[in-house]
Amino acid sequence: MEKETRGWLQQENRYDVILIGGGIIGLAIAYEAAQQGAKVALLERNQFAKGTTCAAAGMLAPTAERFEHPSLRAFAVDSLQLYRTWAEKIWEDTGIDPELRLRGVIIPSKEIPSIERDHISHRTTNSPDLYPPLTSHPTWFDKNKLRERNLELGDSIVGAEYLANEGHISPTKLSEALLEAARRAGAHCLEHEEAKELMLNDGRITGVRTSTTTFTANQVVLCSGLDSEQLARSAGVHLPHYSVKGELLVLRSKASFETVIYGEGVYIVPKSQQRIYIGATSMSDQYDRYVQAGSIMNLLEQACAYLPELRSAHWEQAWAGLRPCTPDHLPYIGPLPGVHGLWAASGHYRNGVLLAPATASALVDWMNSGSMPWAYLNDFRVERMLQGSANFVG
Ligand SMILES: Cc1cc2nc3c(=O)[nH]c(=O)nc-3n(C[C@H](O)[C@H](O)[C@H](O)COP(=O)(O)OP(=O)(O)OC[C@H]3O[C@@H](n4cnc5c(N)ncnc54)[C@H](O)[C@@H]3O)c2cc1C
Repeated sequence: MEKETRGWLQQENRYDVILIGGGIIGLAIAYEAAQQGAKVALLERNQFAKGTTCAAAGMLAPTAERFEHPSLRAFAVDSLQLYRTWAEKIWEDTGIDPELRLRGVIIPSKEIPSIERDHISHRTTNSPDLYPPLTSHPTWFDKNKLRERNLELGDSIVGAEYLANEGHISPTKLSEALLEAARRAGAHCLEHEEAKELMLNDGRITGVRTSTTTFTANQVVLCSGLDSEQLARSAGVHLPHYSVKGELLVLRSKASFETVIYGEGVYIVPKSQQRIYIGATSMSDQYDRYVQAGSIMNLLEQACAYLPELRSAHWEQAWAGLRPCTPDHLPYIGPLPGVHGLWAASGHYRNGVLLAPATASALVDWMNSGSMPWAYLNDFRVERMLQGSANFVG
């Protein structure tokens, strides 16, 4: 009987792909791979999405982020394009609303930016609908136009660039929905299952050992945030990450604006249930999750300068998370050199939520076909760290 049970367990623990790390990236890949018919195990050492993912504001704002690297910019725009159908499908599959709100982002300005003005189309936008058409061209909104969107900005602000197609999603709700969708598609998603050791044989990955059991597969993905570095090192691969700590606070307010305010040094994101997220600080190489009083003071001061009505909002809470950053600020997506079947999907820094659908789609395509699906992914390959070609900015 005991023998039989063990045999059953061993058979059960045989997968096509094992994902290590149940943050937004692991959850998105689990959903995508399971949907495409793979037998998937997703191992999370704590609780799903309770790491950096749930600390995020969930902004989907590639234009506002002003990515300097063209490949990252293209990847972010592609990912945003995927978001509409992706989020709708996940909602449909599970009945859990991930609260996608593409209701625009504004970048407030103290002066009409002359260089940018040439690029700004002055056409008015009539897009109070949930999903306005995608456009990467900002529109200039003066203060009257902003008032029409219930935005009474501070005295020093003369207007704002308006990005109609960008917005935000709830990282918590999205993770909950993805977990449910992945499970419904057949993925085995296991909490409190820490990957302790990668199993290798003759330059190939064969599985993962946890403290309780072993899981075998020919493909293993490191989507373990900052911890991907250590797991890769155990397989002899250099995959440097460092933490950029971010603090964020939440207020409750009856303010009725629906547009994200993306200011200098601060952003304001109107969430459901009258919650307003205000973020975020950036502290390199900090690994604690304490929230500093000074950070809260600065964020509140800056946020109230943009939107004075926040002074009467109620305090709710604050938290900190550790963004998984790489030396050149580009994610790692692709196979790990020298270990057949071992993959990375980590280092998404300040945009893991935004980049989740494109990362999952690219990685699963790549694993299935054996070839890189989009040319610009070449810049996200792990080899750049070996070749010393990375432009280190961290
Ligand atoms: C304040 C703040 C605001 C942010 N705002 C935004 C935003 O507006 N938009 C946006 O797109 N992004 C934002 N981000 C960034 C975003 O949160 C991250 O890029 C994203 O969460 C990274 O996801 P991940 O799945 O790679 O990592 P994580 O969420 O860290 O998940 C990795 C998981 O792996 C698990 N793990 C690690 N080692 C093991 C192991 N050995 N075995 C099993 N499991 C393991 C961990 O427990 C963890 O749950 C923000 C971040 C912060 C801190």
